[in-house]
Amino acid sequence: MGRVDGKTAIVTGGALGIGKATAERLAGEGAQVAVTDLKDDEGASVVTDIEAVGGTARYWHMDVSDEDEVKRVFDEVADAFGGIDVLVNNAGISGPDKPTHELTEAEWDEVMAVNEKGVFFCTKHAIPYMQEAGGGSIITLSSIYGLISAPDIPPYHASKGAVRLMTKTDALEYAEDDIRVNSVHPGFIWTPLVEEYLSGKGDVEKGREQLDELPPSATSANQETSPTASSTWRPTSRSS
Ligand code: NAP
Repeated sequence: MGRVDGKTAIVTGGALGIGKATAERLAGEGAQVAVTDLKDDEGASVVTDIEAVGGTARYWHMDVSDEDEVKRVFDEVADAFGGIDVLVNNAGISGPDKPTHELTEAEWDEVMAVNEKGVFFCTKHAIPYMQEAGGGSIITLSSIYGLISAPDIPPYHASKGAVRLMTKTDALEYAEDDIRVNSVHPGFIWTPLVEEYLSGKGDVEKGREQLDELPPSATSANQETSPTASSTWRPTSRSS
């Protein structure tokens, strides 16, 4: 018996990286998985892989930053699978690697639209289904950089800090509905997002070597404020 037998789970950004692995794991544990993403071919192939090993999944194109699309897709998922029990807010982008004084409003808004407002839209439209079901679980991918910061990608770090506190608020707000709301805070995991982040710094291979050498303690979750320059880490200098 799987840990989520018979449950319906939505994974945003489920075509690649952490979202793909999450969708496959949830399906392996018995959930009916709605894989959602912008990357339709890759999303469809996650579904094919899940079905090939006996799991249940279906793909929906869904941009988390488009509230109308989120609502329509969540309604369709609930119709197809009979409700929504689990939401994994995984879709995210790293955004431009520029210091704050060089960022445009549009660059800031683009990251916030996906990483922060996308979590708001998806949570907002999942909650009524979970209330109807008598409970549920929402898991949001924040980051180690939602706990500490680093001297790069300012909107990314801001967005990951924001979803951390959104999670705490919703956890308190919806506890009485038996809806659990948690954020997770990974360090570096080798995915297309990290590859793109390192390519913005100029040297992916050198960056990866430095990441491989990084002990987990270098991104300690204990450090909540005011890290010293020597206690933060950046892979290579920012490319201009
Ligand atoms: P990834 O490999 O880039 O996969 C993210 C997926 O989300 C991609 O398929 C991406 O499509 C999709 N996506 C982007 N914008 C979207 C939108 N508006 N609507 C729907 N889907 C969208 O990223 P990952 O590394 O697996 O990261 C997943 C999550 O974990 C992110 O929230 C990230 O911040 C967080 N995280 C990652 C790490 C790490 O080291 N990898 C560490 C801490 C936290 P496109 O490729 O078309 O953009």
